[in-house]
Amino acid sequence: MSKDNVFPLHGERPMTVLVAGAAGFIGSHLVDRLLADGHRVVGIDNLITGRSENLDHLRGHGRFRFIQHDVGLPFEIEEGLDWVMHLASPASPPKYQRWPIETLTVNSVGTHHLLELARAKRARFLLASTSEVYGDPLHHPQKEEHWGNVNPNGPRSMYDEGKRYAEAATMAYHRTHGLSVRIIRIFNTYGPRMDPHDGRIVTNFVRQALAGEPLTVFGDGAQTRSLQYVSDLVEAILRYMRVEHPGPVNLGNPVEMTVREIAELVLELTGSRSTLSFHPLPENDPRRRRPDIAMAQELLGWSPRVDPRDGLARTIAAARTDAAMLAPRGAR
Ligand code: NAD
Ligand code: UDP
Repeated sequence: MSKDNVFPLHGERPMTVLVAGAAGFIGSHLVDRLLADGHRVVGIDNLITGRSENLDHLRGHGRFRFIQHDVGLPFEIEEGLDWVMHLASPASPPKYQRWPIETLTVNSVGTHHLLELARAKRARFLLASTSEVYGDPLHHPQKEEHWGNVNPNGPRSMYDEGKRYAEAATMAYHRTHGLSVRIIRIFNTYGPRMDPHDGRIVTNFVRQALAGEPLTVFGDGAQTRSLQYVSDLVEAILRYMRVEHPGPVNLGNPVEMTVREIAELVLELTGSRSTLSFHPLPENDPRRRRPDIAMAQELLGWSPRVDPRDGLARTIAAARTDAAMLAPRGAR
């Protein structure tokens, strides 16, 4: 069966969906799933942190169109749209710190452009927000009602405050114009197609383990994160698009691990003999992070299915065949 003969799983008419951030890690997986479900997708991305290789397999696909463009600049879309999905933003700390003004712009001006587009097309709007809106959280695990403990001008502020602004803008369009919106707060998500040099925990540890280099643990490694595999996130997003609720809704895997435990699991799964090397903890690095996902479970009938051992094994298998993962830093 050709790709064009796949019909929607949910018995709906095929839809036309705009995905901003389509060449990114999560965006490209979302595009694949939308196409597999029979929809048309317009992907837009300026490739600031995304990889065009993430979309290479879709060249010539009859229901996919790619536009290379910065959503912080004006643009028009000819097609009618059913959904506008805003995933465009640098996402890893080293990347958003390298691109602070771009990060603030895409989350402010870019969000306005996409909200206006959704309004003009009478489309449903999705905002990919983040667990970073909780900052260094004062409550554990984090529930949606927690307002956050964020440094408004610290080294992570361009991202945290950018996303907090984007949430506020999304709710303003919902309250003022009745726009049908959905806000998701994504907790650390990983899987194949992450940029090997994005500096995030999973890519760093997997790349280092495969190269036989020491795994760079920041601080004493006692800080925690909860790792979600990308297919679980995509499933939750697609369920949420069918539910009328502005959110915000936490989407993450509540299995909480210390950074040191994650490093040791990567060593075990890769069979690497790399050692751990300890480095200073970055400023404002949150100490604990675990989502309370009761709301998503109730609203979406969803729970993550892929545990960290399984998801990391899949990520490592994909990394072994990713030329960029194996290339030295700076080779791309
Ligand atoms: P990513 O960097 O791989 O993808 C983001 C994409 O957005 C990239 O392809 C980038 O080029 C594009 N982009 C950035 N600015 C743009 C602009 N002005 N115009 C057009 N395109 C632009 O990151 P990701 O991990 O796939 O994250 C996707 C979204 O999910 C982001 O909004 C991020 O904040 C959010 N999120 C991700 C995580 C995670 O753990 N991966 C956690 C919380 C939130
Ligand atoms: N981290 C680490 N070594 C690395 C990269 C990250 O110890 O090479 C730690 C980092 O200090 C943080 C956690 O892993 O405590 C997750 O970092 P990441 O940058 O992936 O995302 P964050 O959750 O901080 O946004």
